[in-house]
Amino acid sequence: MSDATRTYSADQLWLADGWSADGAFAVDASGHVAPPEGEAERLGAWVLPGMPNLHSHAFQRAMAGLAERKGRSDDSFWTWRETMYAFAAAIGPEELKAIAAQLYVEMLKAGYTQVCEFHYLHHQPDGTPYAQPEAMSLALIEAARETGITLTLLPVLYMTGGFDGRPLSARQRRFGNDLSSYVRLLEALRRHEGDGLRIGIALHSLRAVPEEAMRGLLATRIAQDLPVHIHIAEQIGEVQDCLATRGARPVEWLLDHAPVDARWTLVHATHLTGHETSRLARSGAVAGLCPTTEANLGDGLFPLSDYLDAKGVLGIGSDSHISISPVEELRWLEYGQRLSTRHRNIAARREGDSVGETLWRAALRGGARAAGLPVGELRAAARADLLVLDDESPLLAARDARSLLDSFLFAGNTPLVRHVMCGGRWVVRDFRHHDEAGIAARYRAVVERLAQA
Ligand SMILES: [Zn+2]
Repeated sequence: MSDATRTYSADQLWLADGWSADGAFAVDASGHVAPPEGEAERLGAWVLPGMPNLHSHAFQRAMAGLAERKGRSDDSFWTWRETMYAFAAAIGPEELKAIAAQLYVEMLKAGYTQVCEFHYLHHQPDGTPYAQPEAMSLALIEAARETGITLTLLPVLYMTGGFDGRPLSARQRRFGNDLSSYVRLLEALRRHEGDGLRIGIALHSLRAVPEEAMRGLLATRIAQDLPVHIHIAEQIGEVQDCLATRGARPVEWLLDHAPVDARWTLVHATHLTGHETSRLARSGAVAGLCPTTEANLGDGLFPLSDYLDAKGVLGIGSDSHISISPVEELRWLEYGQRLSTRHRNIAARREGDSVGETLWRAALRGGARAAGLPVGELRAAARADLLVLDDESPLLAARDARSLLDSFLFAGNTPLVRHVMCGGRWVVRDFRHHDEAGIAARYRAVVERLAQA
């Protein structure tokens, strides 16, 4: 037994198939799960893997709640986007690092232990690259390392302002790269890969990446075997534009023109026909659902029931960060369906199945696939990213393995995540992140400065 290996136990431990009584596991010196050895330290009644957050634009955390005032009569995603662009213009590496660190602390405390950053704020506001072209990406990597969260960084390829191939607008210029500058960015970032950091690729959307560039990128050597994420079919307008210019709906077009498989995450995929739903499920790709952002932006509802019937893989993301809570994402995933169908317990497939357990299990599995990392499971060689729930909360009193996750998801508005471990390190103890005061002070100074800009 190596000195650095520690063995832990819990009354109930969440393993791949569900709760297991009196489970034990070890964490080795590299922060990965290992077989238990020797005396175990009891962590608590309920220990489960942390949730991967498969879609984040960190900078948007600082504008959450600033676009909730009635504007023009056609208020929609597109008017919200204007507010977001104006806000983004004031953010440089220092601001991004401060905002992301605060965000990641909030994620850890809420039960997310991994985040996929869909990162497109690459250059200076006028579009000129920074002296170090990957400076904004490095700000995110530093924020993740400082807070301890596991990161999959997805630099975004963003080339055109619409399906017609128009150039980027003045406000979009800082997002832009051509294929060669994008590949150089990937090369620079992959040098930082290692413990707790994976690099993947992201196509902003079909409207922002021409077909030829998509093919070119997917054929490069560096892109092989990396996770691939794309925003798709979030808006009806996007579906209509895709039909008009490419003669097919976005998901249909992508499935016909790209090698979509388990390496891919299709973020939102809100507007699907029945045929697209079953094809997407069969592809093995992850549907990246962001229910609180999709509700906030008025996007629409994902066809959850049909997708689960077709054995589709899904995960959750907090996207615009109007809410940072895996519990609330999963709750609203289910509630949206209940409201629109006037039925209950939609996500559970068989009589007697728990909705909370079905959703938590599905989002762990899909989130890990989207992250391209061994997370979301307490099995040997996985990253030791885990949550210890609050045994002392009255909300969890008299709950057993059959009812625990339903109470956690549907009844918990007070935080029920007591301790959080990431990569074998305790990052949250008794509801507090080890560096939360300093990180919050830096965040406050940055947003106060941004508010005056
Ligand atoms: Zn997004």
